Amino acid sequence: MELIGHNAARVLLDRLAADGGLAHAYLFAGPPHVGKTTLARWLAQRLLCTGDAVRPCGACTVCAHIASGVHADVRVLAPEEGTIGVDAARVWTDTLVQSSLFAGWKIGMVEAAEVMTESAANACLKAIEEPTPRTVIILTASRARGVLPTIASRCAIVRLGAVPEAVIASALEARGIADAAIIAALADGAPGRALAYAEDATRMDVVRAYRTTGDALATGSIAARLRSVEKIVSAFPKDRAAVRAEVDEIVKAFERAVQQRLRAPHEHLAHWQDVLHALARVPRLRDANVAPRLILESLVLAHP
Ligand SMILES: [Zn+2]
Repeated sequence: MELIGHNAARVLLDRLAADGGLAHAYLFAGPPHVGKTTLARWLAQRLLCTGDAVRPCGACTVCAHIASGVHADVRVLAPEEGTIGVDAARVWTDTLVQSSLFAGWKIGMVEAAEVMTESAANACLKAIEEPTPRTVIILTASRARGVLPTIASRCAIVRLGAVPEAVIASALEARGIADAAIIAALADGAPGRALAYAEDATRMDVVRAYRTTGDALATGSIAARLRSVEKIVSAFPKDRAAVRAEVDEIVKAFERAVQQRLRAPHEHLAHWQDVLHALARVPRLRDANVAPRLILESLVLAHP
């Protein structure tokens, strides 16, 4: 998987790799699916790539093997049944101190380092404290503070924040993925989540259906929009909780449709003030158990 976003981290690591200034151990910390493992693989590729020009080239056998997680000099320690135990940690440490199979760099990755048991952490300490030459250790974790201090304190910490929606959208577009803007909006700054959504056909059908609904509520005459509300209400599920969830999705789709229209060059924000206010009121109406139909009507009637 190609890295999406995190340019600053990439530029920094690239410069350090070029200058021979890489730390011996890194901790990449950031929310789920933000790209921690992908960045770790990118760094492994940066160090091991055999391409002639810019490294990583992403095209050589080495890059391909690292991308698919089968390169012999990239040793991964990952949780099993939600934990990283001492036996797995010992095996990982032992393979790291052996010399590289290809006489180059060795990369030791630890995924979800926060689930390491204390004895596993102790077993890894030696590998982290007494570096073998040309070895880089990269731990990933959703929170740096979740990692045992004995380990975290010996790592250079690289924090990865949410990737901007526009960056995700253009990366998806570049891959020829349909509905890039919507998927990017749903992904909450996590490129991995965006790619998972894009591959989930069922989910994308649902997303497209909501988009059609959102568009219908945000365009056309008032009469047409009220008819759309009528149609939605008549198709509501039986269960009240399901109705609430559905209304939440429709409100989000409506909001996206409105945002889309606001981006058009001839639209004036002033015309949409009432709609934006109506959207801002939705959570309160929802908490006050206002009927779903009234919530949707309050949105379409606030229209210019
Ligand atoms: Zn390469």
